[in-house]
Amino acid sequence: MTDEDKDDQFYRDTESIAFPKLDDRQLALLEPLGKRRTLQRGEFIFKAGQRDLGLTVILRGETEVFEAREGTEQILATGRERDFIGDVAMLQGTSALATARVKSEQAEILEVPAGKIRRALAELPGLGGPIVNALIMRRRRLMRDREFAGLRIIALRDSREGRQLDDFLDKNRIPHRLIEFESEQGQALCQRLHLTSRDLPTLLTANGAPLRGPSLREVAQVAGLLRPLAYENESEIACDLTIVGAGPAGLAAAVYAASEGLKTVVLESYAPGGQAGSSSWIENFFGFPTGISGGDLTYRAQLQAYRFGAKFSTPAQTLSLDYHDGEEYRASLQIEGCPATLRAKCVLIATGADYRRLDAEGREQFEGSGVYYAATAFEGQLCRGATVIVAGGGNSAGQAAMFLSEGAAKVLLVIRGDDLSKNMSSYLSRRVQARENIELLRRTEIRKMTGNKMLEAVELENTATHERRVLETPAVFSMIGAMPCTDWLPPQIERDEKGFIKTGSAVAHAPAWKQSKRPTGPLETSCPGIFAAGDVRSGSVKRCAAAVGEGGMAVAGVQEALGTFA
Ligand SMILES: Cc1cc2nc3c(=O)[nH]c(=O)nc-3n(C[C@H](O)[C@H](O)[C@H](O)COP(=O)(O)OP(=O)(O)OC[C@H]3O[C@@H](n4cnc5c(N)ncnc54)[C@H](O)[C@@H]3O)c2cc1C
Repeated sequence: MTDEDKDDQFYRDTESIAFPKLDDRQLALLEPLGKRRTLQRGEFIFKAGQRDLGLTVILRGETEVFEAREGTEQILATGRERDFIGDVAMLQGTSALATARVKSEQAEILEVPAGKIRRALAELPGLGGPIVNALIMRRRRLMRDREFAGLRIIALRDSREGRQLDDFLDKNRIPHRLIEFESEQGQALCQRLHLTSRDLPTLLTANGAPLRGPSLREVAQVAGLLRPLAYENESEIACDLTIVGAGPAGLAAAVYAASEGLKTVVLESYAPGGQAGSSSWIENFFGFPTGISGGDLTYRAQLQAYRFGAKFSTPAQTLSLDYHDGEEYRASLQIEGCPATLRAKCVLIATGADYRRLDAEGREQFEGSGVYYAATAFEGQLCRGATVIVAGGGNSAGQAAMFLSEGAAKVLLVIRGDDLSKNMSSYLSRRVQARENIELLRRTEIRKMTGNKMLEAVELENTATHERRVLETPAVFSMIGAMPCTDWLPPQIERDEKGFIKTGSAVAHAPAWKQSKRPTGPLETSCPGIFAAGDVRSGSVKRCAAAVGEGGMAVAGVQEALGTFA
């Protein structure tokens, strides 16, 4: 089957999920939430780039949704009686990617505003399931559509800035294309828009307007990801719970907190999904027997949180937290680019950890498909019988090498220095050196990684002799340390010697807890009302499922804490 045949099959199989007809009961539930309007042929229902779209139900007549590009119109869908127009942008509050207008002589529509439809999807039985499934499926079809462009980035081939915009939109799940300046299409577009290589990268918005050399914030603004947390002239925003970090821990907490009716704001500095979002295939997550991509898993969680009313803004790097012991709003947070102060009754810190990355050419391409940050039975299976590389000279590298040597044909332990016992416990370094199929490569660095979709080979350099050699391998285990993202926190929030946040019994002695009437919650930090969950927490299991569990559990703690404040 060719790729085009596969696409055709996919579109046929998914048609009924993406475009279900609303039944009488569903129409009756929506009717009181919306406003009826009668429009004439050619009148717009909404335009590309417009934000805060609601749901449009077609009651009579015919409509069409299209993408306009360089004077041509690509029809994406037509709608008739009982169909509805909408996309996940409606849940996320991001910008419309296409334009909708009336096709028939006249049409009658029911417009349900964004806020009302989100609440209805969460609360009205029989409505949320089919509509949300349809919106998700429509987006999947759109992402697969070869003719659909979405936002377009024109960039020089191999431009780092261009790749960063591409990665940012990718991780935030905004449909887009990266067009190389050097390509025929790139040349034609630049000529038409009078762009020179100095203007690149340039972002073409959904209505075709060029934005030269945009920052990530500007791109986020265009895509509708950057949402105003405060209304104009507001110097403060108040909420029950602020979640800092939207990896698995933060997203799970957002779903549970918002579904419990807590006014929840999620601050994410780059893209929801966190480390899990960069994992191509998670095989050990509960409920997905054949695995799921980290991006898909976390995207679903994000939509769920939106549906329950959690408020997101991306990028929103949290810069600082001030703690006010004993006050109802215990924390005030400053956010990059946001003039208002965010005041929260409780805060969940779910900022995870940043694994130190190997400085090797091509490494990014193989994250999760050859470059790993953990060595468990799962990764062990992946490289059974092969020669694998472990990079790092600490205990985690030693443990990984020992573990992997049980199944792999050979493990090459690559260290930058020449003394293994310098950073590794002596018992472990002795064991490593005694194991027959572990070879220690001293004064060695990985320079380059190559392969097709999966890692196939690495280039190693001996830094003493500068000799280079290429080694075939399916896996590099990067064990060069992880840094918790905690440098923005005040000293009152106690951390362990590596900077991970202490919680529960480890902080029960803290001054703020001595005056408290309630015992320290298991995920509560040295400051009552401030919680930590996931990889950022001292002693946490660095796994997706563990982070999700902690995120959910933290919300139970938040509710208990809120019950005692007031
Ligand atoms: C390549 C890779 C593959 C993996 N594969 C698996 C696997 O197969 N199975 C498994 O169980 N685990 C896997 N893991 C581990 C798993 O992804 C992590 O344990 C999990 O993501 C931790 O979740 P978290 O929410 O605690 O933190 P993170 O996922 O690290 O998320 C933290 C979030 O906080 C944001 N943030 C940080 N600082 C700030 C700030 N100041 N303001 C606002 N936002 C901020 C970050 O941008 C990030 O999005 C993998 C990890 C990696 C890197």
